[in-house]
Amino acid sequence: MLDIKKTLTQSPKQKPDQSNLGFGKYFSDHMVTVDYSDDKGWHNAQLVPYGPLCLDPAAMVFHYGQELFEGMKAYPAADGRVLLFRPEKNAERMIRSCERMCMASLPVEDFIQCVETLVKADRDWIPTAPGTSLYLRPFVIATDAMLGVHASHTYKAVFIASPTGSYYPNGFAPIRIFVEDEYTRASRGGTGYAKCGGNYGGSLKAQEKAQELGYNQVLWLDSVEQKYVEEVGAMNMMFKIDGEIITAPLDGTILPGVTRDSCLQLLRDWGCKVSERKLSVDELISAAHSGKLEEAFGCGTAAVISPVGEICYKGEKHIINNFEIGEISQKLYDNLTGIQWGRLPDPHGWTREVK
Ligand SMILES: *Cc1c(COP(=O)(O)O)cnc(C)c1O
Repeated sequence: MLDIKKTLTQSPKQKPDQSNLGFGKYFSDHMVTVDYSDDKGWHNAQLVPYGPLCLDPAAMVFHYGQELFEGMKAYPAADGRVLLFRPEKNAERMIRSCERMCMASLPVEDFIQCVETLVKADRDWIPTAPGTSLYLRPFVIATDAMLGVHASHTYKAVFIASPTGSYYPNGFAPIRIFVEDEYTRASRGGTGYAKCGGNYGGSLKAQEKAQELGYNQVLWLDSVEQKYVEEVGAMNMMFKIDGEIITAPLDGTILPGVTRDSCLQLLRDWGCKVSERKLSVDELISAAHSGKLEEAFGCGTAAVISPVGEICYKGEKHIINNFEIGEISQKLYDNLTGIQWGRLPDPHGWTREVK
């Protein structure tokens, strides 16, 4: 247990209009910070008013990118409870990310304590309109003021919160994705499985290119052969081909999503045929040609499920399921959001009430 010292804000901010929250634009009144040094371990845990961090310009995070983050939500249930969804999964993933980046990691129970302390302090920042939630962004940065390339000996963990609207301004609707065959995201032996900032900085170029061409997201191929389908910007991908639901295996180059894991569990509960296996882009495109590509969707915390209505590869466009939301996409969306917002029974004990 951390001893979290609390200093509440003297000037609470005005809350944003709940009908126009968007994603990641507004921040709540408080944040939690915890410091690490090799001699003291994690210490100086504080809940303080949200505000700028003061860092030495030589802090290692600015130079060598020793940084990582998490993304999760606090959901307002209709009965007034506040629910987290599998927060231990985020805590465990952050430990694995830290390990890959040679950074000190917060124990699972300390991570959850920080999240819950922030959610409780900013409970009145949890929006209540349908589909809204309080997005939580834990992150860790290297703070040694030192220009040699090595692992830092000091770190700061920070937890911030952002009231967030339904991901879809126009409702739950299909997106268009662009298969990227020039740039790559993560290579074998690289940091693809860690939620570290560098993975995203390096992907912006491809994201901009896709957007200029009118696509919402980039679909990444493996970086060795550019042959196998991996994931999109911040979502894992699933494809239903001839009755089989296929998603890329956790081979180290993709992010092991909590939503991915939850979808796989639900699909198996329902008796669907699911495979965690390599899917080549050739197999995908020939399935699209022969009409066997029944559905495609992304899954991640922000959007939950993102049905894909069009896919573009080497200049050729393929419409999936008449650009309509597929049956499996809809069922997963209804069930996951039902569990997360406390409307449906939670057979796997995935939600945790913040009391
Ligand atoms: C965060 C993220 C995901 C989704 O993970 P969830 O835990 O389901 O939110 C998938 N891919 C990438 C690259 C991500 O950054």
